[in-house]
Amino acid sequence: MLVYLNGRFVDRASASVPIDDRGFLFGDGVYEVLRVVQGRLVEPARHWARLARGLAGLRIRRPDELDDRALGAIAHHLLADNGLTDGEALVYLEITRGAAPRTHHFPPPDTSPTVLMSVGAYAPPHALRERGTAVITVPDQRWARCDLKTINLLPNALAKQLAVDAGVHEAVFVRDGVVTEGSSSNIFALVDGELRTYPASNYILSGITRDVVLDIAGDLGLTVRTFPILAAELPAAEEVFLTSTTNDVMPVTSVDGARIGDGRPGPVTMRLYQAFAAAALHRPSIAV
Ligand code: PMP
Repeated sequence: MLVYLNGRFVDRASASVPIDDRGFLFGDGVYEVLRVVQGRLVEPARHWARLARGLAGLRIRRPDELDDRALGAIAHHLLADNGLTDGEALVYLEITRGAAPRTHHFPPPDTSPTVLMSVGAYAPPHALRERGTAVITVPDQRWARCDLKTINLLPNALAKQLAVDAGVHEAVFVRDGVVTEGSSSNIFALVDGELRTYPASNYILSGITRDVVLDIAGDLGLTVRTFPILAAELPAAEEVFLTSTTNDVMPVTSVDGARIGDGRPGPVTMRLYQAFAAAALHRPSIAV
């Protein structure tokens, strides 16, 4: 399996970064996960735009040669070389501030960022979608720049482990009585016929899937409002679903043990999934 590391395509087993990489020492970096269907990147422009916002937010200088087109080309090279141009795959991209003697403040400006891209086969969770998933709510103990997709994912990892311990699919963060997002997903609820999700702000990572679903929901004529869902409202919602690159649109049928609706994936949720799959996943055009 080949990966891309700092300008070279190398065997995964021999790819390594120095122990003074600031990603390792401080979680000082950003990442993206992209979906690939039949060799085609899904929504690459939105992912590259979010990457650019993250790099700017962390003040990490992107290597000049790594523009969006180059990132797409590296991804396609890896997919082709690793035999992943058929079926489904994921691309992982990480850029850290690079390796330098440990100081809290930034290293010298000529420090090269560390750039890693890898790919892997992916099997979407269709069986789970048919059944619907359970989630638990947990306190949102993250910092106030959740809009930056940094590799500093400790609160998210701790929350996801609570979900695993509870035997459920996802942990959903609650901050001051308000549902923000999942540990690795955004969350929507249909409340009194209105589709709601937390507004794009510093308290959530505005997911690419969330953005596409919001567009699609508008196109379908649904009543949509980016407005907080209270934790107290969630168990009584008509429908609840998660969105993410790996889950697409994932119905939630139980929250903290309380059944949502009739306990089966809701019709609005599944309509949105079908529309999302048609518009984003299985779009006929070949765009990089
Ligand atoms: N929120 C968080 C905290 C996430 O980690 C993710 C997935 N990376 C998402 C939302 C969903 O984002 P996307 O749809 O871009 O995968």
